[in-house]
Amino acid sequence: MANHASHPGRVFLVGAGPGDPDLLTLRAARLLTSAKIVVHDGLVDPSILAMANPQARMISVAKRRAHHTMPQEDICALLVREALAGNDVVRLKGGDPLVFGRGGEEAEACRAAGVPVEIVPGISAANAAGAAAQIALTHRDHASVVSFVAGQCKGLSDQDWSGLAGVGRTLVIYMGVKTAPQIAEKLMADGLAPDMAVAVIENAARPEMRVIRGLLAGLPDLVEENRVKSPALIVIGEVTREHDADLAAIAVKAEQ
Ligand code: SAH
Repeated sequence: MANHASHPGRVFLVGAGPGDPDLLTLRAARLLTSAKIVVHDGLVDPSILAMANPQARMISVAKRRAHHTMPQEDICALLVREALAGNDVVRLKGGDPLVFGRGGEEAEACRAAGVPVEIVPGISAANAAGAAAQIALTHRDHASVVSFVAGQCKGLSDQDWSGLAGVGRTLVIYMGVKTAPQIAEKLMADGLAPDMAVAVIENAARPEMRVIRGLLAGLPDLVEENRVKSPALIVIGEVTREHDADLAAIAVKAEQ
């Protein structure tokens, strides 16, 4: 307990959005520019890290390419240790901290140690991809339900996705590039039509974004032939189809 300050610092779990610095919240940008310690992971874009206070200590806990990811318990311990030593810590995470970001675990570790924690929301990949690819996740004509699932998790085949995709519904799959064949198979086994529309959005809201459209049965080939790489989202549902009726309506309006 020798290193404990009389007042602990605060931990800010901050969403960094999809990578474009313009898509940070003002709160995230302000916290970054005044931070003393920034703990970040592999998904945070270098242009966002460059906005941090030049004096800040930058600690990377995930080197994606080299696969040296710090275990989650160690990350939690690091946040708590720094805060108990009296330092405010900005914990920067891709997208939103509470969407497949383990922000919940880090917040729990802080609360358990008596460290005040604030969570700053970020634009999650699904929202960023929807906007950048102009795919409405819900649409009065095509979908009134939207679900987010993780495509790479323990026991993918045991996950119950029944009812999440289909007519009138949009399914957004995070971390699904590697498991695209199993995902397509699973959804069709659940009764989804092989000709259900799908889109793969790679590097959403970044200059190198690609939007690839196709049909569910062809999803594995779509991913392989286009050499889709992480980070990418798979969106399943009618909303991903380029609707001729919509385009025609836009054309009519444009003529008026
Ligand atoms: N907390 C993050 C998600 C982390 S999980 C969020 O809210 O967005 C990591 C997965 O997010 C990636 O495998 C990918 O599926 C998705 N992702 C993150 N950034 C992305 C981007 N710019 N474009 C497409 N998918 C992205």
